[in-house]
Amino acid sequence: MTKLSRTDIERARERIHGRILRTPLRRSASLSKQSGAPVSLKHEQLQTTGSFKLRGATNAVLSLTTDARQRGVITVSTGNHGRALAHASAQEGVACTVCMSSLVPQNKLENIRALGAQIHVIGRSQDEAELEAKRLAKEHGMVMVHPFDQTDIIAGQGTLGLEIIEEAPEAECLVVPLSGGGLAAGVALAAKAAKPRLRVIGVSMARGAAMAASLNAGHPIEVEELPTLADALGGGIGLDNRHTFAMARDLLDEVVLVEEAEISAAIAHVWREESEMVEGAGAVGVAALVAGKVRTSGPTIIILSGRNIDASLHRSIIEGKPVAASTLGAGE
Ligand SMILES: *Cc1c(COP(=O)(O)O)cnc(C)c1O
Repeated sequence: MTKLSRTDIERARERIHGRILRTPLRRSASLSKQSGAPVSLKHEQLQTTGSFKLRGATNAVLSLTTDARQRGVITVSTGNHGRALAHASAQEGVACTVCMSSLVPQNKLENIRALGAQIHVIGRSQDEAELEAKRLAKEHGMVMVHPFDQTDIIAGQGTLGLEIIEEAPEAECLVVPLSGGGLAAGVALAAKAAKPRLRVIGVSMARGAAMAASLNAGHPIEVEELPTLADALGGGIGLDNRHTFAMARDLLDEVVLVEEAEISAAIAHVWREESEMVEGAGAVGVAALVAGKVRTSGPTIIILSGRNIDASLHRSIIEGKPVAASTLGAGE
């Protein structure tokens, strides 16, 4: 296992410079007033493709050897990682294959295809799609790009931490959405290298938080996946996790869980008070703050990590209508 350092994240930043947006960090009047501490939002939902995942995906594609570039990349994600990898590959002229099961809705499939990826529909479950992706990768020499547990992905996501700490060196607390932990690990590593006393808090949904359960157990464990508004936070961390579990354990000061009602309230809050659209996973930091689950003793930064939410679901939430669990996704 190669150990990641701040230098790797700085190199990633140089590599992806000009290919990703430097997203705005803005003071939130409503959240500052509500919490009694200066709170700013890192508007990473405005990133190209609608989430921070473009940072890691772009770094991974640009880190390929000349040989690997010719063979292309492959993934099974149809969510934010799949979008990001398809976009980053298209930008660099690298072939990208996305394997998905026949359960994936047609509109999701078309969205990925529109980004220039080859679609491979196989099997009736995510597991079968994953097996097929591994087989194809082996057969054709394509490079599997993992959504979080890979050093170039973690380093790419970490560039967000460099931006934050440069713009807000006074920050005392950083609140980060947490699933597989690529984002939290990279951001915490970058920000704590500059400011060791910074508190970094990971936030997951209470329904099926694999990293939180694994940290409690002291080793990676599986949890049941449940439908949640924060669908981009679903999925496991891998029983054979190589990097993010240890990094989250060593770098996060605390992990907080939020309920579905708190997530929908946060989506509505961000819409009402900041005029911004965020998806459930992108809103969990705000949810934790508004619910009083994060202590704010000083300047606090919350990452809004993504905006890819179904438009009619978003409308129901901001209109305060109940959301049926059957309309929600579980994992990417
Ligand atoms: C992937 C994702 C996360 C979680 O990132 P990890 O690196 O898996 O912890 C959070 N928010 C959004 C919008 C995402 O797409």
